Amino acid sequence: MRALVLEQRGVLSLRDVPAVDAAEALLGPRDVRVQLHTVGICGSDVHYYTHGKIGPFVVREPMILGHEASGTVIETGDEVTSLAVGDRVCMEPGIPDPNSRASRLGLYNIDPAVRFWATPPVHGILRPTCVHPEAFTYKLPGSVGFAEAAMVEPLAVGVHAVTKARIPPGNIGVVMGAGPIGLVTALAALAAGCARVFVSDLSAPKLALAESLSPSISGVDVGREDLAERVLKATEGWGADVVFEATGSPVAAARVFEPLAPGGCVVMIGGQAEPIRYDAGAAMVREARVENVFRYAHVFPRCVAMLASGAIDVRPLITRTFAFEESVLAFETAAAAPPGEVKMQIALPQ
Ligand code: ZN
Repeated sequence: MRALVLEQRGVLSLRDVPAVDAAEALLGPRDVRVQLHTVGICGSDVHYYTHGKIGPFVVREPMILGHEASGTVIETGDEVTSLAVGDRVCMEPGIPDPNSRASRLGLYNIDPAVRFWATPPVHGILRPTCVHPEAFTYKLPGSVGFAEAAMVEPLAVGVHAVTKARIPPGNIGVVMGAGPIGLVTALAALAAGCARVFVSDLSAPKLALAESLSPSISGVDVGREDLAERVLKATEGWGADVVFEATGSPVAAARVFEPLAPGGCVVMIGGQAEPIRYDAGAAMVREARVENVFRYAHVFPRCVAMLASGAIDVRPLITRTFAFEESVLAFETAAAAPPGEVKMQIALPQ
């Protein structure tokens, strides 16, 4: 089948990949075949394209990109009970070994054996169809469109981060970074009951978009003002109850405790692409709790439910949609990081 292939660092092509057709010719009894509808372009896809690796994950063989997806079930395995042909779905891209120690402990996202779309050597899903386990495929209510559904994957990162933070209603939150992950984290923090969320970034258009999402979001342009100063001033010198680090930038992350209140919590979300350091002394004097997240676990149904109820609306984050035939252009555009774009998606022919 025709797919968007990262041949090697910096080289993309839209071409047939017969090995995928062969590998997916037969369905397992608990698998479904999905015709893909919308695939989001993730920062990780772009990073593999521009750098050929993320941390220990190195692209050594041609790999199909894409892991944020929605589509329609077109075939079901013999033992599938929860899904039927015609169901609209979104898919969780990481498939763990169900018998692994991590899976049995409920930590399936950090199972060392997890096979995650578009993480070498596993192919992604920028292609017409894929085969996926029923257990990691989630039916969409009629009110959730395909484009929104392809946002469930990044939203899951934010919802997992907020879940790890264990924040009660009325907290003051800070999200460092107004990229897609930062913005879904801000939305998830508000859905969890934060009274106010400060979102920091260097991009004025991204901050404007952040503020347009909710009157409870305040943008902080860190090129023009100091984040900690602004947050301390707004909280009578106390600081924020929770700080989410979603820039992955060593410069930003080094200062992650500065806006944090005593006894507060920092959640590290970004930072897999390059090593980051932070000030442990600053954490100690606050007795800060530090949480780390790696992707997500057990949150896809919650994300779908919040999109369905309107508790979270991700549609304003989708700023551009390309046709599948324009996939190479889409990645070239994403790699240039246009300041006004947040989430770009690719729509497959139906
Ligand atoms: Zn992603």
